[in-house]
Amino acid sequence: MQYMIDLRSDTLTLPTAEMLQAMLEAKLGDDGRTRGHKGEDPTAVEVEEMVAGLLGMEDALFVPSGTMGNTVCVAALAKRGEKVITTANSHIYKAERALFDEDLLGRQAVLIPHEKGVYDLKALRQALKQQDISVVCTENTYNFEGGAVISREQTQAVTELCKSYQVPVHLDGARIFHAASALGLPVAELIQGVCSIMFCVSKGLCAPIGSFIAGDCGFIKKARETRKALGGQLRQVGMLEAAGKIAVEQMSKRVGEDNALAFKLAQGLQNTPGINVDLDGVKTNIVKLDIPTGNAGDFIRDLEIQQLVRTHYTTDQSVRLVTYYGISESDVEEAVKRIRVFCQSYYQ
Ligand SMILES: *Cc1c(COP(=O)(O)O)cnc(C)c1O
Repeated sequence: MQYMIDLRSDTLTLPTAEMLQAMLEAKLGDDGRTRGHKGEDPTAVEVEEMVAGLLGMEDALFVPSGTMGNTVCVAALAKRGEKVITTANSHIYKAERALFDEDLLGRQAVLIPHEKGVYDLKALRQALKQQDISVVCTENTYNFEGGAVISREQTQAVTELCKSYQVPVHLDGARIFHAASALGLPVAELIQGVCSIMFCVSKGLCAPIGSFIAGDCGFIKKARETRKALGGQLRQVGMLEAAGKIAVEQMSKRVGEDNALAFKLAQGLQNTPGINVDLDGVKTNIVKLDIPTGNAGDFIRDLEIQQLVRTHYTTDQSVRLVTYYGISESDVEEAVKRIRVFCQSYYQ
């Protein structure tokens, strides 16, 4: 029987054997009982220190999800009713929403035009000048634009502009290691100048659960309180952070392989009837297929039924494919073959 090739998301990665072993052996305590500014779970203390050091930040904190990480960070920097700059198709605005929901956290979004996640600097400057802005959010890689990468220079242009208006920058770095790998830079260098960052260990880095946030000590102290208020304080959390440690120290080093396979996938799909792939736009582990006929929902359903390839719906005109640990070069070659066969009959 043919096997399923599942390219919906890098959240499909499973914990490695080494992670499961580390989870069994982790020294644990109650992370909700604080001593000074850290909890009593020794593994959590160790891993959070390691993460902070790697990012060039003072302190770090584990959160159960990326959504909670972004929410905690932005809520720490902007009060109810205050203005938060983001973009219309950012994850934080389009997919999370709690921050901007009137009945929930009630922050006010100010949407600025952008090109693949890179702000129109003129529009950004104008907003900073004319309005009372509490925080500016950026996203790297940029999920809804095919995993686009924001360069060191582009990041710096935003952090410096914001600094001149004394406005902090929060970075949604769910896939920051993929961006750093694509740019050939250490993460600490890429994110220099941001006030806070969130990144996921549960996606391409293969840990089963969680994300980390980082910032200065005062910020993380406040974030710890907000995390608790949102129900994100997890007691023997060292069990999860032990897997996160392997994600950050080891699995982050191999994400370049996923980036390369995504490019190979995009190359293989060039000149396929019915779909378009902008090869130049494929910089990390996400491939955006444009479906000009606008029937992405049918495309996804029928491709899975006929050819056992799973893809992810983004809009009626686009479908997302993601490479990750567990998707091999031969899986990519096979996926290309199956998608081409499918499109040739579907769009003849
Ligand atoms: C996945 C993702 C998040 C949220 O992470 P969850 O763990 O799914 O809550 C935030 N930002 C971006 C860009 C993401 O891709």
